[in-house]
Amino acid sequence: MTINSQTVLLGLIGNPAKHSLSPLIHNGIFQQRSMNAAYLCFEVQPKDLKPAVSSLRSLGAKGFNLTIPYKEKVLSLLDEVSEDARLIKAVNTVKNQGGRLVGYNTDGPGFIDSLKLKGRFSPREKNVCILGAGGAAKAVSFCLCKEEAASVSIYDLERARAEALARGLRKLFKKTRIVVLDAKEQMSARTNLLVNATGVGMKERDPALFDAAFLERFPGLLVYDLIYAPAQPPLLKEAQKARLPVMNGLWMLIYQALRALTIWFERDDFLRLGDFCYNLLPEQEVEKR
Ligand code: NAP
Repeated sequence: MTINSQTVLLGLIGNPAKHSLSPLIHNGIFQQRSMNAAYLCFEVQPKDLKPAVSSLRSLGAKGFNLTIPYKEKVLSLLDEVSEDARLIKAVNTVKNQGGRLVGYNTDGPGFIDSLKLKGRFSPREKNVCILGAGGAAKAVSFCLCKEEAASVSIYDLERARAEALARGLRKLFKKTRIVVLDAKEQMSARTNLLVNATGVGMKERDPALFDAAFLERFPGLLVYDLIYAPAQPPLLKEAQKARLPVMNGLWMLIYQALRALTIWFERDDFLRLGDFCYNLLPEQEVEKR
């Protein structure tokens, strides 16, 4: 990749940000497609979010992503926000349109793309159970309802959080039945897709949220863990023991990036690059099997 006076600047604002896999994905694509663009990581302190956003605008960056803890905080710094991002109340992608900053959320659409393109799973009229009711669960459940899932059941340790998410979804979507579970074991026998949207499984000693013996009661269940490090979180190991299909969060990470590129460059051919991106990631990240 040659950097010159015409190089298009893109990047990620977060804290932490230096561990991110996003530069590997974006710069790998720029190289493969001979695009004169570069994607950098900016680890920004909370007090510097506003000047950082404003600097990227004035420096003429084409756009940027946001990660923890800025997806909500950035909303008030933008000129315009897409309807979906406004309803989810989180932005992970910003496009600089001649000095106007427009916010989008590609997390949910990236999750749906990954399901359809890699999991060969269409959520329409399916029953979904989501563990966790935080930021990721919000984006994912919103898009599952948009795709007209038959039901979305939500379980969070803090029931009030699951109820608040359910109330918001019920107001927006009439075709999907929204259920709040008192215990994760109440997951319906008719569940087609289980999504772990908690952080349980990221730490080395975390337990599996369900064991293989429990999961065996759900033949054909697709088990999707939004965690991507480790690549095989405990829930997925148990699901594999139960011979169930599994997906990890690398696929959502990849497709949210491809969706962001689609917005920045106004081209839809990026969505074909899922496998190419997966192969760009280092061996230890993907635990290639
Ligand atoms: P978050 O806002 O902290 O939400 C997680 C929610 O799960 C919290 O409400 C938490 O409650 C709850 N929870 C914790 N343990 C639980 C359990 N045993 N059972 C039920 N609920 C439980 O986190 P987030 O930002 O939504 O992220 C969630 C996960 O998604 C993380 O692993 C993150 O890395 C992943 N993620 C992946 C991608 C991707 O592209 N693949 C994108 C975004 C996020 P407490 O707060 O009380 O613990």
